[in-house]
Parts: sequence; C-alpha cells; structure tokens
Amino acid sequence: MPKGHHYGRTQTRAYTGEYHRINANVFKPLLTTPLGSYSINSEYLSDNHRKLVLKENENGVRYVTFTINKTPHQIALKLDNSSASNKLYITCPYCQKQRQHLYAIKHAYACRQCIGLHYASQSERPQERLMRRIRKLRKELWGFDWPEVNNMFEQIAYWPKPKWMRWKTFEQKRNNIILLEKKYWPMAITQMKTTFGDRFMAEKSN
Ligand SMILES: [Zn+2]
Repeated sequence: MPKGHHYGRTQTRAYTGEYHRINANVFKPLLTTPLGSYSINSEYLSDNHRKLVLKENENGVRYVTFTINKTPHQIALKLDNSSASNKLYITCPYCQKQRQHLYAIKHAYACRQCIGLHYASQSERPQERLMRRIRKLRKELWGFDWPEVNNMFEQIAYWPKPKWMRWKTFEQKRNNIILLEKKYWPMAITQMKTTFGDRFMAEKSN
C-alpha cells in the first residue's frame, strides 16, 4: 500500500472517532426549563461532559456551565430571532464565537477552530500544495503553453525533452516530477473518497 494512502485513511478515521460533536439543538429545551442542574443523556460523553448547571444572566441570556477537569466551561445559549427557524447557537467557551456545534474533547468543550480539527477540507491543503508544485515544475520544463501542462490526469512520462536541455538534466527533472505525481495520486484518491468530488473536478478544469 502506498504510504500516502495509508496516511490519509488514518487521518480520516481519527477525526470522526476521537471527538464527540454536540449540536446546539441539544440545548434547546433548556431555553424554557427551570434553572438548575441537568445532565445530557448521552453514552458518548464523560460524566463531566454531561453534567451542567443552567443559569441566566441579568440580560436574560441563558448559559450552561460544565465543570471539566475542575475548569468551568461556560456556554451561552443564543437564539437567533432574526431567522424564521429560530436557530439556536451556542458559544465556544474558548473563543466566545457563536457555533452550531461544539466538540467534546478530553478536558474541554470547544469549537472546531479552537481544537484545530483537521477536516477533509483542511487535509486537502498538502495535496493542493503538491499539485501546485507539480504544475510549476512541469511549466519550467515544458513551458506555460504546453498542451495539458495543468492536467493532472495527463502522464508526463512521454513528454519530449526540450531541445536545448541536456538529456541527463532532463531525466533528472522529469523523474523528480514523476516521483511527486506518484505521491500526489494516493492523496487525490483519498480526497475524492472523503469529499463529494466536486472540488476535485473543479481543480481539473483550471
Ligand atoms: Zn472556539
């Protein structure tokens, strides 16, 4: 199995398994219930991630406090009255931004950004970087106007040597690109499997 492929698969698994995502809607009943202590009924959450105290501040904003690892995690419940759906947002205890989801990690509740969760869309960055590099090296060797120079589906193995270049130099440069493309494809395939493929197709038509 190519190394890159294995790497991508391991990553994908980690994202979905190690964090438990809670949706803001979980807290919706707490907008109308009496203040006090509650517990989220979920087998995925630790005791500390379940138990909460519901309070209300002087502005009438309700918030819940989880005590995780002896640290209070305050999450405000903010109803968006501007939309017809009355969407509920919860604030991240770390950045205070309004979120639709928070993640239960070992000793905290936090939003995706604060945790630095690597989603599929983020893990495509190394792949995109690699693609840009391959295209750049191709252009250096065959020129900007070479047909299919940007087409990652096109094999470069039989593309001709520029007239002015020594064979040895050419082969070195070409083999380097071939090597990078071998690294690129397992990443691209993993990417196609983890997203819906539309982004990938868009890249192709550039
Ligand atoms: Zn945050």
